[in-house]
Amino acid sequence: MKVAIIGAGASGLFLGNLLKLNNIDFTIFNNGKVGRKILASGNGRCNIGNTNLDSSKYHNNPLANKLIKNKDKVFNLFKEMKIYLKEDSEGRLYPISESSQSILNIFTKNINNIVDLKVEKIDKRNNKYVINDKYDGFDKVVIAAGSISSVEDTNIYNYLNNLDLKFNEFKPSLVGFIVKERVKAISGVRCKCNVSLYNDNKLIHSEDGEVIFKDDGISGICIMNLSSYYQHLNNINKPHIRIDLLKNNKYESLESVINPKLLEYINKNDIDPYNMVLSIKDTYGFKNSQVSKGGVDISSLNDNLSLKSDNNIYFSGEIIDVDGVCGGYNLFFAFLCAYKIYEDLKWNIKLMG
Ligand SMILES: Cc1cc2nc3c(=O)[nH]c(=O)nc-3n(C[C@H](O)[C@H](O)[C@H](O)COP(=O)(O)OP(=O)(O)OC[C@H]3O[C@@H](n4cnc5c(N)ncnc54)[C@H](O)[C@@H]3O)c2cc1C
Repeated sequence: MKVAIIGAGASGLFLGNLLKLNNIDFTIFNNGKVGRKILASGNGRCNIGNTNLDSSKYHNNPLANKLIKNKDKVFNLFKEMKIYLKEDSEGRLYPISESSQSILNIFTKNINNIVDLKVEKIDKRNNKYVINDKYDGFDKVVIAAGSISSVEDTNIYNYLNNLDLKFNEFKPSLVGFIVKERVKAISGVRCKCNVSLYNDNKLIHSEDGEVIFKDDGISGICIMNLSSYYQHLNNINKPHIRIDLLKNNKYESLESVINPKLLEYINKNDIDPYNMVLSIKDTYGFKNSQVSKGGVDISSLNDNLSLKSDNNIYFSGEIIDVDGVCGGYNLFFAFLCAYKIYEDLKWNIKLMG
């Protein structure tokens, strides 16, 4: 069996390693820098997973729910690959080196068949798949091509047009918000607080974290998490964020509690420090986002992640319409997909005798 993998990111590289361990023939086709998002992840420290893994971290997506059952198998494979992890106080897992480069080195050291190529065409001839009219003889194709978040060339999915599948438009997620209020005066200020997303006057999600004010909006991990809930809203109506700068604590004076620039701003604008309301104009764009909501709809896929319309073509990782909050969940989803496909390919080989 010969497998073509499109994409040398977290999912494609992990799958390549699993196929290598089992002597399954494969070629990876990748456009641009290998493992670019692995390197960028976790601020260069690679937040590779989380001990609090459950489907709620993926907006209760049923596919994530099924794949999570294999989490221990993925962790065991990390051990086999001699990837040693450490956990922070919020269950986030990092390599002990705290370096994304060490994960990329491990993922690439046994893989010598990555072709630098932008895949633009996949054809089927004589029951085999041909990539860009040039590379042929593939029995299976795994599309692990990620999303358009944080990429320069976004015109990378034309080959999907020939496939019978439902593709949900990408939207930037894990990203900051542009707000209607003028916040330039406090640009650069950071504060630890409680943030809540409201839509249609209903509370959607709330959490504690650090907010970073920008020239025209807000960011920070807790805000990026709110964006993830925002992109899952069906009807957007007067969306806004309420910030409790004091996390419900009582103080006689705020002078030593709130950043002086921010204190001056809230006093000047008569803002309640327990309820600073910022109206959402939009999110920032794909360039600033860590993941995309959208991609191949899970209704187009079988449980083994192959296409219902062609069970020799699989989808893996972020290109599937499953996205998680910050904390290692998105990289881990990419690994869970790769593991599922690897199991299926092994089973196929057994069947072929
Ligand atoms: C700045 C940043 C920080 C992040 N931090 C974290 C974190 O700490 N923890 C976490 O869990 N997640 C994090 N993420 C998200 C995580 O990196 C992604 O969800 C994950 O890398 C997706 O893996 P993937 O293999 O599905 O896709 P990708 O890693 O995006 O890989 C896809 C590959 O396919 C290639 N490709 C695309 N189209 C084609 C084509 N037509 N032909 C050939 N090749 C193609 C791309 O060039 C790319 O190399 C972060 C993302 C960013 C941008």
